[in-house]
Amino acid sequence: MSRIFAIANQKGGVGKTTTAVNLAASLAELGQRVLLADLDPQGNATMGCGIEKRTALPTVYQILLNQVGLADARMRSGPGHFDVIPSNRELAGAEIDLVNLEQRDLRLKTALAGVADEYDFILMDCPPTLNLLTVNAFAAAEAVLIPMQCEYYALEGLTDLVATIKKVKQRLNPDIRIEGLLRVMFDPRSTLAQQVSDQLKQHFGDRVYDTVIPRNVRLAEAPSHGLPVLAYDRQCKGAKAYLDLAEETLRRAGIAVGEAA
Ligand code: ATP
Ligand code: MG
Repeated sequence: MSRIFAIANQKGGVGKTTTAVNLAASLAELGQRVLLADLDPQGNATMGCGIEKRTALPTVYQILLNQVGLADARMRSGPGHFDVIPSNRELAGAEIDLVNLEQRDLRLKTALAGVADEYDFILMDCPPTLNLLTVNAFAAAEAVLIPMQCEYYALEGLTDLVATIKKVKQRLNPDIRIEGLLRVMFDPRSTLAQQVSDQLKQHFGDRVYDTVIPRNVRLAEAPSHGLPVLAYDRQCKGAKAYLDLAEETLRRAGIAVGEAA
């Protein structure tokens, strides 16, 4: 049975896509079978996996509208060694196209159910909004992974996200939980970052990942080559940090490294 995680934060540019692509590649490196679903019309995760978003068809859009099955839309990330459901700007219209359709919140959950046995992990890269696409991800997810920068307003920004997760729990998915808060682009020399990090631990306890992702320029460069960082520079700090995150994810899930789930 696969573990299904939504990677979400309605704040833009906090490292959701970087985490989705590199956690997917790192879990694959550790022998896990991984599917990454790109739920953002920006298509950044698609491109970061080495797939050209402009010509990708079908995409998650056709899946949500029940025009194709998920098995017919997935592609392979060659450099990442995992499967991808691509996305592009066409998905921006999904909210409107879905509005009058039945079970519009549950489309993705239903589609994923058909392939769940083929994967150990399914990761969903969410857009920077709490819209119908994100709700579809939360309805399908067992847990939410929240990447965040340790900035002044970081905790306040979490309030809306936690409220949305609560609503989804009441209405659509009683089992959803927060898998973890991941500190990204972390600068250990910053006193503010340390303070916010301490506050996070006070509020969320062991739901804060032990692994911290440092600011690392190789992580920012890799997507422009269509590569996860492991395939771009496997010795860099960013690559090591995401491998640590994958190991921590397996540990939390009770899976020994190298063993299939
Ligand atoms: P959006 O909300 O637009 O979808 P996002 O939350 O998915 O954004 P990313 O695209 O992953 O965020 O990251 C935003 C920018 O920061 C990108 O240019 C990315 O390359 C860079 N970045 C992400 N993580 C790191 C890091 N640890 N070190 C350096 N740069 C990073
Ligand atoms: Mg993104």
